[in-house]
Amino acid sequence: MRIHSKQIIAEKRAEVLVVGSGSAGAATAIAAAKTGADTLLVERYGFMGGVSTQVLDTFYGFYTPGSSPRKIVGGVPDLVVDALKKRGAMLIRPNTYGAGDGVTYDPETLKMVWESLALEAGVRLLFHTFVMDVLMEGARVAGVVAATKRGWFEIRADCIVDATGDADVAAWSGAPYEGPDEGPVQSLTTTFRMTGVDDARARAVRKDALHALLAQAAESGKYDLPRREGSIHITPYPGVMATNMTRVGDVDATDPEQLTRAEVEGRRQAMEYARFLRDFVPGYEHAFLTDFSNQIGVRESRRIRGVYRLTKEDVLAARKFDDAIAQCGAPIEEHHSGRDTHWEYLPEGATYDIPYRCLLPQLVEGLLVAGRCLSAEHDAHASVRSMGQCMAMGQAAGAAAALSCQGETLPHALPVDTLRERLAGMGAVL
Ligand SMILES: Cc1cc2nc3c(=O)[nH]c(=O)nc-3n(C[C@H](O)[C@H](O)[C@H](O)COP(=O)(O)OP(=O)(O)OC[C@H]3O[C@@H](n4cnc5c(N)ncnc54)[C@H](O)[C@@H]3O)c2cc1C
Repeated sequence: MRIHSKQIIAEKRAEVLVVGSGSAGAATAIAAAKTGADTLLVERYGFMGGVSTQVLDTFYGFYTPGSSPRKIVGGVPDLVVDALKKRGAMLIRPNTYGAGDGVTYDPETLKMVWESLALEAGVRLLFHTFVMDVLMEGARVAGVVAATKRGWFEIRADCIVDATGDADVAAWSGAPYEGPDEGPVQSLTTTFRMTGVDDARARAVRKDALHALLAQAAESGKYDLPRREGSIHITPYPGVMATNMTRVGDVDATDPEQLTRAEVEGRRQAMEYARFLRDFVPGYEHAFLTDFSNQIGVRESRRIRGVYRLTKEDVLAARKFDDAIAQCGAPIEEHHSGRDTHWEYLPEGATYDIPYRCLLPQLVEGLLVAGRCLSAEHDAHASVRSMGQCMAMGQAAGAAAALSCQGETLPHALPVDTLRERLAGMGAVL
């Protein structure tokens, strides 16, 4: 059988091509353009932000957890928070759920913040474009093939950053990676918001009281609540609460059939948790579920096998590296299948470094990754994946990609001091 529509309808070019516009990809593109590169950002959906606008509303990782929070992320991430603040669309939630101070925002405003920061920096945006294959020249990733309503495009670039979350570009180029076939991956969550909440009464319900009510409802046999320690929090808007309660385990998020079943199950669970909230929790009696996340939230799928692989020991020992491009102080937060979530902390106030080598895949050239598909063990990944760190990694990958183009060198050969100097100049905390 012949594929009738298999034709390349156009060719595009960029110095730096960024695939995926989540926290990592958005920061990558902004940093690359600000470093002077002609930058193209390709995204499969019609807006930027990935999980930051599709699923969530709180940046973690900006501050260390504990009694004396220290800000450990800066530069492009600060531009994002400042723009949200200017629009009255954010608030700081102190040390929530042990993860440190969170920056809670309105995701709809963030969609506009991301695109205005990108456009102001000079990034060319291309939405509704799904990258589906790579163009190789020897070991170098020279471009990608993208699917659109008009057919297929080839996009060639001097340097490519894979910020797809799932390491799509790296996987198709033949770079080694690990994923659900090699070991455990975290469970998935459909988030949802409740509107019409009596804020004062709902806020008076503390975490332990909520968990006791979840257990009581589940044990009554009348509610199907697989997770018993889900969280719920205030938003910038009166009467609106955001949740992180559902849990769908054992899913390979790169398999569309498994992901389809997970979407259906996530929404089913969300309706069940909303019923529980109305029936059991003070303040929710007249509230209703207004929106599900745009898609089910995927915490972990493919992680590349990079030049360095961040380990659990690096995290818990707060290890420092000469090629540090960002810091992280977040605990290991393990969302496995089952009722609870497991937390393991660094020493109070400590941080570890994220090495540049974790963004460099093995075996292929001309390619960097940023965000949750970095090179890390499963346990280390459970700490390093917060959006603050994804933005910081993106900033580093974008600067590295632009500097590589300017120096006519490959990202693997870029002198790390040059990169760190550029990052310090942008306001990164190293
Ligand atoms: C349920 C859940 C709760 C979480 N809670 C928090 C929290 O409260 N705070 C926090 O800081 N972190 C939290 N995290 C972790 C954090 O949100 C993620 O690790 C982070 O957002 C990942 O960012 P990313 O840019 O790497 O990937 P993503 O945000 O997934 O972005 C990937 C982007 O690439 C696009 N894309 C993918 N494939 C292609 C393709 N082939 N072609 C074109 N475009 C493509 C996607 O549409 C998307 O826009 C949570 C994660 C989940 C799932």
